[in-house]
Amino acid sequence: MYHKLLLISTPMGALGSGLGGGVELTLSNLAIEMLRRGHQLEIVAPQGSVSNSLPIKEISGELIQIPAQNQSRSDPILLHKNSVLANMWDYARQVQADYDLIVNFAYDWLPLYLTPFFNTPIAHFISMGSLTDVMDEIIEQVAINFPGTIGVHSQTQAATFTFAQRCICLLNGLDLSIYKFCPEPTQSLAWVGRIAPEKGLEDAVAAGEITGITLKIFGLKQDISYWEKICQKYPNAPIEYVGFLSTVELQEKLGQCRSLLVTPRWVEAFGNVAIEALACGVPLIAYRRGGLTEIVQEGKTGFLVEPDSVQGLVEAIKHLDELDRQACRQQAETLYSLEAMGDRVEQWFQKILKN
Ligand code: UDP
Repeated sequence: MYHKLLLISTPMGALGSGLGGGVELTLSNLAIEMLRRGHQLEIVAPQGSVSNSLPIKEISGELIQIPAQNQSRSDPILLHKNSVLANMWDYARQVQADYDLIVNFAYDWLPLYLTPFFNTPIAHFISMGSLTDVMDEIIEQVAINFPGTIGVHSQTQAATFTFAQRCICLLNGLDLSIYKFCPEPTQSLAWVGRIAPEKGLEDAVAAGEITGITLKIFGLKQDISYWEKICQKYPNAPIEYVGFLSTVELQEKLGQCRSLLVTPRWVEAFGNVAIEALACGVPLIAYRRGGLTEIVQEGKTGFLVEPDSVQGLVEAIKHLDELDRQACRQQAETLYSLEAMGDRVEQWFQKILKN
């Protein structure tokens, strides 16, 4: 059974900008896989979004300025004049009759609130754990009134909500043909992600300074002052900022590293970068936090370290030779292929459409 799908992106930034974090990769990978399976779709995304092959409807308007992860629990919802979020959902309202299902990728209040006002069913792919009371409340209302429509990436992410049992756990998937297995790495370590406080880059840099091993840093400098503070605090750390790379370039350079350090301060919903590393054969050294606890196979494809312990990172680095790069690639092939992800998501869609 083929479906017509309308995929609505995050209002944080254009696809390809990096401002949308892991959501950008999740959305485009899902679109590729759904098209391969014969479904029809259109992606609705902020103006300036780029994609080689995917059908994108670009929508103009103001991007969201304050990421949910920078808010306090009791903060209210704020929208700017001419908000791209509102504009994307106004477009969805107008074209909804042409689609069987709308899929929301934004961690925002508005699409959840609008759910009962739409005639076309909406699946919500929730990309972060509990951050604010107002978001918790609206996600829970949708979970209760539209059972089975709330998808998440990991059980640990779901467990941050009081309604965890109402969430559908989907993990994530990658086009593994893009990620090449690299059997013989250099000595360098890697850190990949948005450079922002919740991602905890400073701990990886501190571990680099102690061990003297080069740390290659890949990602968008989302918070410049945070980056500058790290550079001032660790002037002698052997770091190399490579930049924000396309997936093709990223996998090549990441694959050459001995390990990926994943050092979040927050409950990382999943950690796309972790499965991208595994796909290249790069083992993980990750804080025992969030989705990473479900991804790392302890002692085989990575080590889980006491959260916020730089010394723990340093100890784990000494044991890197015990990890198996082949097993890393194998784990990605078994759990995180696009086909495996496509099966999970297709089942999710079909259940929603049966109701
Ligand atoms: N990324 C990228 N190029 C880079 C560094 C990162 O495309 O140079 C992407 C990476 O592929 C991943 C995303 O940025 O999809 C980060 O997602 P993740 O789920 O790890 O964290 P989030 O930003 O969503 O919190």
